[in-house]
Amino acid sequence: MSNRPCSRVACSRHAQFTLTFDYGDRLAAIGPLAFEIEPHSYDLCARHAERLNVPEGWTVLRPTPLGFD
Ligand SMILES: [Zn+2]
Repeated sequence: MSNRPCSRVACSRHAQFTLTFDYGDRLAAIGPLAFEIEPHSYDLCARHAERLNVPEGWTVLRPTPLGFD
């Protein structure tokens, strides 16, 4: 298991999900915590993954069920 922290400022929770942006398709995909950190991915705790807001015109892909707390 990883002990990487949530990437949000001032959040000290452990990351449980990885958010990946696809700028070409305007997609923000939330998935299980990635094993490797990639340039366009961000680790998020359950709370921040659940509350994710994306810019107008973007789509959020949330595999179900994710098991948010
Ligand atoms: Zn967080």
